[in-house]
Amino acid sequence: MTNSERAKKIKMILMDVDGTLTDGTILVFSSGEELKAYHVRDGMGILMAHLVGLKTGVITGKTSPALEKRAAKLQLDEIHQGIMDKKSILDDICQRHHLQPTEIAYIGDDLGDLEVLKRVGLAGAVADAHPQVKNVCHFIATKPGGRGAVREFIDFILTAQDKWEEIEEKLTELTQIK
Ligand SMILES: [Mg+2]
Repeated sequence: MTNSERAKKIKMILMDVDGTLTDGTILVFSSGEELKAYHVRDGMGILMAHLVGLKTGVITGKTSPALEKRAAKLQLDEIHQGIMDKKSILDDICQRHHLQPTEIAYIGDDLGDLEVLKRVGLAGAVADAHPQVKNVCHFIATKPGGRGAVREFIDFILTAQDKWEEIEEKLTELTQIK
């Protein structure tokens, strides 16, 4: 099966956070508070996915209050933090949304993502992912984590599903309301 055929079946896009939606940098203040940077174009990709009825979510091993805010702003359907066993969460998500793993796309960067990547219909890696991760992925972004890799992954899915005309129309509707 080609990557494009795999992408056509996708109904939900799941993402890792650190090193995927971010470049992996975590700035730690002396107070213990952490600071991470997200890329605005990844956010736009998530908005476009929602416009055409795709669901989205994050599964991350870490826990951060800032992610909670970012995820709420982006209206993600699934937010799972502090998860060591990402595979169990994938099973749980499939069950609750009545989806097959072949209908899920996942993008990650490191070894903690391997088990999920091996199970989903479309597995994506950021350009600077660990070599073992790239080995099991169908799609490897040209951009690194936190620099638009997620947008590239979403764009690929939207292209395979022939959604650009619909997205343009819906974006126009949105700007007209404002
Ligand atoms: Mg990661």
